[in-house]
Amino acid sequence: AKKNRPGTSAMFEPGMRTELLRHVELGTDARRAFESGEFRLAYQPIVALPGGRITAVEALLRWTHPRLGPVAPDTFIPLAEQSGLIIDLGRWVLREACRDLAGWRAAGLPDLTVSVNLSSRQLQDEQLVADVTAALAETGVPASALTLEVTETALMRDPREVQRRLRALKSIGVRLAVDDFGNGYSSMAQLSRFPIDQLKVDKSLIDGIGTDRRQRAIARSVLELGAILELETVAEGVEEPAQLAALTALPCTLAQGFLFAEPVRPEQVGDFA
Ligand code: C2E
Ligand code: CA
Ligand code: CA
Ligand code: CA
Repeated sequence: AKKNRPGTSAMFEPGMRTELLRHVELGTDARRAFESGEFRLAYQPIVALPGGRITAVEALLRWTHPRLGPVAPDTFIPLAEQSGLIIDLGRWVLREACRDLAGWRAAGLPDLTVSVNLSSRQLQDEQLVADVTAALAETGVPASALTLEVTETALMRDPREVQRRLRALKSIGVRLAVDDFGNGYSSMAQLSRFPIDQLKVDKSLIDGIGTDRRQRAIARSVLELGAILELETVAEGVEEPAQLAALTALPCTLAQGFLFAEPVRPEQVGDFA
């Protein structure tokens, strides 16, 4: 965010100015928050189709600011990326998610896997592969139980570098997912260059499938692409029974969304299994 220099404040409407100041404040405060343990993880179930049995959970960061209340990840993640905090924060998320997974598996959910979001800054970090290896070793979680989610946009940012890093991750045995697929402009040829296991189809492509024949046809073509590449396919942001009904006629293996479950505290994950 730009500094609010004298003489420039007239450019901002009062609401915008508050918003700008809030961003500056949050950006500088996130490091303190991280060090004082204000970040938590919530977990959202990912279910198999048909049937709706839980197979995985996605770790989602939560931050409740002591004065401002809950801050959305879409607000603080970009700030953490700008400041570089995302490297330490992302490393913590990896450890914490593996620790929670080790707990659930010990408590009798042996087949559950966990999905962790990686920011493009982490993908560019030389240390990433060592961090992932350490998180697995410390918690005793098998690599095959960890899925790392990378957005389609991050994949395409520096394809050669990313390709190399993903190959290194793949070689330690973790699974890889392309997140928010359908938001960007990747082609099937581009996608097939990356060693991925799972395609997460963006909510924007899922929203209309219960009501709109053409939306359903677009989703079908993306899901068929996933099937051709022999990938697991996840429909993201499923909210309506009509969407679920449409999905049963499509080549979609997994689903995630408020229809099945919202993100929950770690202790609540067992309730879904
Ligand atoms: P994402 O990776 O696409 O995560 C899914 C988001 O969609 C989550 O929002 C989730 O709560 C929301 N969602 C799930 N089902 C539904 C639904 O049926 N309807 C609607 N409207 N929303 C649904 P959340 O938790 O606010 O996270 C937003 C984004 O922040 C994530 O999008 C991800 O890009 C980023 N993020 C969250 N945690 C992390 C993290 O640990 N590391 C990184 N790098 N990014 C993260
Ligand atoms: Ca994700
Ligand atoms: Ca997503
Ligand atoms: Ca998203």
